[in-house]
Amino acid sequence: MRPRNAFLLGLALTLAVGFFYAGAVLYRTFIGLDPAAFPAGAAIESAARAVLPRPPDFPLAGLVLALLSLLAAGAATFWLVRRAVRAGTDRARRSFLTGAASGAGAALVATGAGGALALARAFLGLGNEGRGWRPTATRIFGDEVPHTAPDWRDEWKGARVRAWRRLGRTGFEVSDISLGTGGLSGENGEAIVREALERGVNYLDTAPDYAGSGSEQAIGRALRGWDRTKLFVATKFCTPAGHLPAGSPVSAYEAALEGSLRRLGTDYVDLVHVHSCDEVERLLDENLHEAFERLKQAGKVRFLGFSSHTPNLLQVADAAIRSGRFDVMMPAYHHGIWPGLHDVIARARREQDMGVVAMKTLKGAKHHGLAGFREQAHAYSQAAFKWVLSNPDVSCLVISFRQPQHLDEYLFASGAALGASDLAVLRAYDERIAGSYCAPHCGACLASCPHGLPIADVFRYRMYFEDYGWEKRSLASYAKLARNASACLGCPAPCAGACPSGIPIQRRMLETHELLTLG
Ligand code: SF4
Ligand code: SF4
Repeated sequence: MRPRNAFLLGLALTLAVGFFYAGAVLYRTFIGLDPAAFPAGAAIESAARAVLPRPPDFPLAGLVLALLSLLAAGAATFWLVRRAVRAGTDRARRSFLTGAASGAGAALVATGAGGALALARAFLGLGNEGRGWRPTATRIFGDEVPHTAPDWRDEWKGARVRAWRRLGRTGFEVSDISLGTGGLSGENGEAIVREALERGVNYLDTAPDYAGSGSEQAIGRALRGWDRTKLFVATKFCTPAGHLPAGSPVSAYEAALEGSLRRLGTDYVDLVHVHSCDEVERLLDENLHEAFERLKQAGKVRFLGFSSHTPNLLQVADAAIRSGRFDVMMPAYHHGIWPGLHDVIARARREQDMGVVAMKTLKGAKHHGLAGFREQAHAYSQAAFKWVLSNPDVSCLVISFRQPQHLDEYLFASGAALGASDLAVLRAYDERIAGSYCAPHCGACLASCPHGLPIADVFRYRMYFEDYGWEKRSLASYAKLARNASACLGCPAPCAGACPSGIPIQRRMLETHELLTLG
């Protein structure tokens, strides 16, 4: 082959690798997909982390693979061109130097061009029906969703925790309104945690995969100087890249908790949850329980819990209660929730004296319409918290304090009783979200889908994106689904009318797929 043809062939090869492989890998890296999803991803991830003195918080395996694939294609071009030059008539003197120089040039050009094409496909949707990252990225970096009440009333200012409740058999008295940290990170997150502690919050809920481990790091910095025994710190059995699947080695669970301890700067956590548990298999994974027992004996964790929003809550909670192994449960719980949940909570308290931590208490946190509550005596959030805490079986609720104003707004509801005006606010809120809010633990529509789509999970990830502002986490969670809403295109939609809340399932599924699929 002539050197020029060899160069063109190599260039085409690298462009193809950049366009079809490196672009896809970069996309998956961008959204934080689990490294194990890539070929040899787990090994590449640990090798890259071992080499770098200060490894970043996002998964590295995808980035390394994308670069390696482009460099490999460039090296193949190098080899092709050099071989072609050597096979030419004038090979005596020029073969190596010419081949090496042109091959190296080709490798550089091809790698650059391949990278450019990878980015063009990913960002602009080139060759992918125009479906690139740009529209979604515009929403990610666009206007902030309002997360506070429209008016910040003087009477709220300086509000502090006024009530503490027993967290089941742990015996710890926790603040009735406690700190969730799903969106917290950096200096702002650290300052909010510090101020919350100053005002009497003593239960902190975090996880390695919150804000790419930024939540644990912010808490770690904020905890310095505090008497650790006066605080109750809860984290999850997972890694910054996501959940540990059932059957993960004992060592993986132990390493996950060691990572949390490092980031939190503490010798022990009070509670570790099986994170967002939607199946009994993961809840009762023997490796997880063996790891927990070992960590407990080593004094690195004290109690075990599980968190869940699953429509399988009955099975998951039943298994947890029967096993007797769990000290705390953390279900999604808010006004108008699936009524069966009250019985589950009461049973957990009665039979196992489990602590109950309520999450997702703002029923979707649809703050877009908060201005409509300007005339109400209290904020919507305060009414929602009072409803949750009116159940004496609830030990405490966790809520993300995102802005300093939340310390005043949220803590003003601590220890307050639910009144008629609060119920009026909750009814008004329900009218605003009618037809768009998918209730946790419901699952009434799931049996109607012949493709077995996890409809409730898809809508939850959309809620994370639109209402919580957790865009990256939402995209990563959606990308990990084994079956997604692309199946809704062209489906005759037997799910129509299956939602008691009146959600037009097919339309919202298709919208969600468009929103949560980058390129
Ligand atoms: S439209 Fe989507 S959710 Fe509804 S039945 Fe078809 S595939 Fe399932
Ligand atoms: S879409 Fe409707 S029926 Fe399906 S889980 Fe959500 S609230 Fe329940």
